[in-house]
This record gives sequence, structure tokens and C-alpha cells, in this order.
Amino acid sequence: MLALWVTYLIALNFHRLSNFLMNEIKPFWQEKTLQEMSRKEWESLCDGCAKCCLHKFIDDDSTTDETELMPTDHIKEGEQMSYSNIACFLLNDKTCQCSQYKDRTTLVPDCVRLTQDNLEGVFFMPPSCTYRRLQEGRGIPSWHPLLNKGKPSAMHKAGMSVRGKIVKDSQVNIEDFEDHIVTWPLNDID
Ligand code: SF4
Ligand code: SF4
Repeated sequence: MLALWVTYLIALNFHRLSNFLMNEIKPFWQEKTLQEMSRKEWESLCDGCAKCCLHKFIDDDSTTDETELMPTDHIKEGEQMSYSNIACFLLNDKTCQCSQYKDRTTLVPDCVRLTQDNLEGVFFMPPSCTYRRLQEGRGIPSWHPLLNKGKPSAMHKAGMSVRGKIVKDSQVNIEDFEDHIVTWPLNDID
């Protein structure tokens, strides 16, 4: 009987200790600002949705025929940014990963890479982007791989990635972009 009680007490205390630790130890994204995170933590925040690999267009009255489809890294007050379903030709449309991640900035010079040094550009990211969500104090959604054993399946199932919704820029005439304007990249849930 004594052995049974001892086992029971150990089990009870272990249960209390785990509850205590779970309540006290917060995940890094709740403890640190984006600026304070380590490189590894920063990289792990990316959900892999690939919405940032979609072409976006800004309605800008001041463009000319020559400059109309040129890349830009700023948006003026009052201008609207629209998303298209046209994705970079290097994107793997099944895994939603870059097929040439290491060489991407050489192969695609206007590939946007968000870092801790250019966080002011986070507002170019879609509302569901983890970096933007954390910067706006909205936390990590339940479908995020970090809350799903590192797996992206919950994200794909929730329709938060580009999987099954895109065409490649190598397959369309970019001048026909107006036929490809979509609103689904602006969706955010949770
Ligand atoms: S939109 Fe944000 S979270 Fe999604 S792939 Fe791009 S950087 Fe990562
Ligand atoms: S180069 Fe890779 S990461 Fe950059 S936009 Fe293209 S697919 Fe996305």
C-alpha cells in the first residue's frame, strides 16, 4: 500500500510540475520581440505559405508606359496594393517552397527577403504572414506549423497557403495581370 501511495504522490507531483512549467514557460514568440529573436527562431516563424512569392500590383497614377511594370519597394499614401495569383517561376507549387532558395536573390533580383533589419517592409506582407501578425501583436494562429509539430498540413488544410491556387509568371503574360487579381491572399483566420 505504501509503495502505491508513493507512486501516486510522485505521479501527482509530476502532473503539477508539468502544469506549472507549461504555465510559466512561454514560447519564444510570446517572450521576445521580433528584433530580439535568434536567427533560428526568426527563420522558424515563417509558415511557408508562399504568399510573399505572389506578384503584387500597386495602382499608381504617376507611372508611364515604360515604368508601369517595374518593381518598386515603396507605396505612397492612398495607393492600393492588389494581390495576383501569379507566382514566381521558382516556386514549387506543391510544397510551396522556393526551388532555388540558396540562389534566389541572384536568380530573382526583386525577391523580397524580410529580415530583422528591414522590418518596416513587413506591411508589404499579407495579413496572415507570421511576421506581420507578431509585429501587429496578433500572435501565431492555430494552423501555424510551430503549433502543429512543425508540419504545414494544417496550414494547407485551412487554405492559408498558395497551394492549388496559382499560375507561374513563366506561364502567363504579365501584362494581363488584371485578369489575375485575387483577394484570397488577404484572408486571415484565427
Ligand atoms: S508570407 Fe510571411 S509567413 Fe508566409 S512564406 Fe512569406 S514570409 Fe513566410
Ligand atoms: S525566388 Fe524563391 S523565395 Fe523569391 S519569390 Fe521566387 S520562389 Fe519566392
